[in-house]
This record gives sequence, C-alpha cells and structure tokens, in this order.
Amino acid sequence: MTKNIAVIKGDGIGPEIITEAMKVLDAVAKKYGHTFNYTQLLMGGCSIDANGEPLTKETIDACKASDAVLMGSIGGDTTTSPWYKLPPNLRPEAGLLGIRKALGLFANLRPCVLYPQLSGACPLKKEISDRGFDMLIMRELTGGLYFGEKKTETVDGMQVAVDTLVYSESEIRRIAIKAFDVAMKRRKKVTSVDKANVLESSRLWRKVITEVAKDYPEVTLEHMLVDNSAMQLVRDPAQFDVMVTENMFGDILSDEASMITGSIGMLASASMNETKFGLYEPSGGSAPDIAGQNKANPIATILSAAMMLRYSFDMIDEADAVEAAVSKALNDGYRTGDIMSEGMTKVSCSEMGDIIAKAV
Ligand code: NAD
Repeated sequence: MTKNIAVIKGDGIGPEIITEAMKVLDAVAKKYGHTFNYTQLLMGGCSIDANGEPLTKETIDACKASDAVLMGSIGGDTTTSPWYKLPPNLRPEAGLLGIRKALGLFANLRPCVLYPQLSGACPLKKEISDRGFDMLIMRELTGGLYFGEKKTETVDGMQVAVDTLVYSESEIRRIAIKAFDVAMKRRKKVTSVDKANVLESSRLWRKVITEVAKDYPEVTLEHMLVDNSAMQLVRDPAQFDVMVTENMFGDILSDEASMITGSIGMLASASMNETKFGLYEPSGGSAPDIAGQNKANPIATILSAAMMLRYSFDMIDEADAVEAAVSKALNDGYRTGDIMSEGMTKVSCSEMGDIIAKAV
C-alpha cells in the first residue's frame, strides 16, 4: 500500500521524536512492503520564524491532500521565547487550534496504558497498579462549553459571566459512531460519561449514545456520571476500555487518566474527523528544557504513529508489530531518562528509535 503522510516536526524536541517515529515507520514499510511518502511541513514557532505566522494556507492544503498527519510538538519556553511576545493569534499554539479547525478534527483519542514494566511510575496503590490498565479516552473536541456563546455583563451593578453548553444531536452522533468503531477494534466496551442527572445536554447525549449503540450489538455500553468516573479512574482503572465524553469532561478526565500512567513521554494521541483521516501526535509538549540534547523519549510519538497505522490506514498487524516492539524494548530494560529506574539501561532518543525499529 502507498500512503502519503504530512509530517510536522515542529519545535523543541519535535524534530528529534519525529525522526525516530519515521525510522520505525520505515522499518514497517520495509517489513510489510508498503511505501510511505512524507511531506515535511512547518507549523508553530518554526513557521513564525520562516513565514511570520504559525500556520500557513500551504501547510493546511498539504495536510488536506495527505492520508494522515504526523506531528511532533510546537511551542517554546513561554517565559523566554520571543514567540510569546506576539499577539495571541500569532503565537505557536494558534497554529494548533487553527489546524484542528481547518481539518474538522472533532474527536480526540488518548490511549492511557500502564505498561507492567513501568508500573512503578504509577502513583496509585500497588494492588491497583499491579492489575495494569489499557483504556482510551475519546473526547469531543469542537463543541460544548468551550465553544458556546459566552459573555460578561453588568447586571444591577454586579458583573455576571455566562458560558453556554450546547450540543446538537449530530455532534453527539458522530462522536458516538467514532467511539463504537474504535471499541470494535479493542475490547468492545464503551463507557459514556455524562451528567444526565443535572444537565439537559447530558440527557440528549445519553439518548443519542444509546441509539447509536443499537448498531453495535457486539459492544457493551454503560453510562456513568462524570463525578463517579473521576473516582473510578483512580479506584479501578482496569474496568475501562473506551470512555467517550463531551469536551470539558474529557479535558479533565483525560489529564487524570494520563497522570495515573506516570510518564508523559509514553502517551500517544490522535484527533480525527468523520473519515479515517487523523492528526497523530504525542500528548506532551515541546519540552524546551531538554530540546536538542537527544534525551527525549520518542515512544509517545512512535505509539502515535502506530495509531495512525491502525485507525487511518487499517494496518492492524503493522500497528500491533510497533506496539509489540515498544513492549520488547521495555522488557529488554531500555529506558530514556524520563522513565529510567535502577538496574535498567539508559539510552538516548535516537538509540531508543533504533532499538524499536530493529524490533519491528
Ligand atoms: P511539556 O510537555 O513540553 O514538558 C513538561 C515536562 O515533561 C518537561 O519537564 C519535559 O522535559 C517533560 N517531557 C515532555 N515530553 C517529554 C518526552 N517526550 N520525553 C521526556 N520528557 C518529556 O510541557 P510544558 O513545559 O508545559 O510546555 C512546553 C511548550 O510546549 C509550551 O510552549 C507549550 O505551549 C507547548 N505544548 C505544545 C503541545 C503540542 O504541541 N500539542 C502540547 C502541550 C504543550
């Protein structure tokens, strides 16, 4: 198969971690007889330096013309970098919001996996971390409270602020379909998180999710209130497979879920539209404190590339092979600095990429 991949290396550790992910993709291409064509594009701080803006029409058009986008990270040190003296709409992060909007990426997928080899980094009690967990949080990204009408006004001499939480049936239906489709490729369980005991938007959410579930008889659906979900995530995270929720609940719960894995350098993510098209990137930022030192952990980016193989290209065996190669590297005791522990072998970013590419 031939696939065209738009590559945005970005800023900070972005170029280092993307180089390693491409190394692993090249190993996949060689083993399985595929051709991956890469188009390198600028976005974020490097685009500001080259073009005076964080996201150009050229980058958007090239992304739209590709089969998927693989991204490193964008942004710099927010206190010292000159990029942060610019108006907010010209700063690196404006590129990130702009590209999500331009590509219609409404579903954010964040797998949270506790690898048994790294269970020591999990802040939960040992009897919980020993069970491990492997869940995926699917967050609606373009609706809800963050995008509804907002205003601050003075009423009877008192300032009053209003944010509006709006969801339409079609917005809920498309994320529900995405969640059930992904669950079909996993352990076939969906937990839909809402606040249906209080919020009207949640009652519509629950109704539409339940309707969509009828088209997926193999998938088990459960509804859970958001406050209970926050507790269950730290009490028994192993119970979850796919958790689907609206924008603000997802923002909070996905960070909570990331935290219990204990290592930011391991967390992949994807943002998708209605088709198989997606943008794949690590959950972490550009880590300016370690940029250019060959110290970054490339695994989150490599696992993001595996998600691209699985969800955008339907290359299931290939994705499994990359994930197995990551596990093997960990089993063999290789660690970058951020996940290093006693008795393990410390390796650089590029060495970790070599080890995983070889294991593929
Ligand atoms: P960060 O995630 O970049 O760094 C937080 C800490 O985690 C740092 O100590 C860093 O060294 C470490 N870390 C992150 N990724 C790592 C990796 N792969 N390997 C080893 N260690 C890693 O968060 P921050 O410092 O708050 O933000 C730095 C910049 O990144 C800012 O400009 C911010 O806006 C930007 N940012 C970009 C994205 C994105 O591109 N999607 C996301 C978050 C933050």
